[in-house]
Amino acid sequence: MKERPILMSVTTGQPSKRGKRLKSADGLTWKQRNREAVNARRRELYAANPDAHRARQRAYKQAAKDKVNAYQMAWGAEYRAKLRAEMILAYGGRCACCGERQPEFLQLDHIHNDGAEDRKNNPATKLFAKLKRLGWPKDRYQLLCANCNFGKFMNGGICPHQEHSHA
Ligand SMILES: [Zn+2]
Ligand SMILES: [Zn+2]
Repeated sequence: MKERPILMSVTTGQPSKRGKRLKSADGLTWKQRNREAVNARRRELYAANPDAHRARQRAYKQAAKDKVNAYQMAWGAEYRAKLRAEMILAYGGRCACCGERQPEFLQLDHIHNDGAEDRKNNPATKLFAKLKRLGWPKDRYQLLCANCNFGKFMNGGICPHQEHSHA
C-alpha cells in the first residue's frame, strides 16, 4: 500500500488541512492514521497555552448552544402559534360575546373569573397544552375578544355588551 505524502502547510508549518482530508487506499484520513501524533501535538499545544485552548473550547460550546437555542426558539414559536390556532378553533373561533372572529383579537377567557391560578402556574402555552389534553373543556373556558375581555374585567365580571342587551 502506497503511503500518501503528508502535505505540510507553508503558513503554519503543520501538516496542512488539505492533506488531512485526503483519504488513502485504506480509507483512513491522515488524522486517523496519525492519531498518536495528532493527540501528542494537541497535548503540546494545550500545555503551551491552556487558557487560550479553554477559551476556544468555551466559545465552541457556546456557539453550539446558541445554535440549539435558536433552533428550539424557532420550533417553540411555531408550536405556540399552532397550539393557539387549535385553541381558537376548539373554542368556536369567535368571541362568545360580540362574535368577533379576527384571531389576533381573541383570548381565552375564564368564564368564572377563576384564572388567577392558571395564570400563576402556567404560561398561556402550558395552559393550552393542558386544555388540549383535557379535550378543550368548555365549562370553564370561552373565547372573548380583547374588548369584551377587558370590558368584562372593568365591569366587575360581565361585559357591558351583555348588560345593554338585557336593559
Ligand atoms: Zn367581543
Ligand atoms: Zn362584549
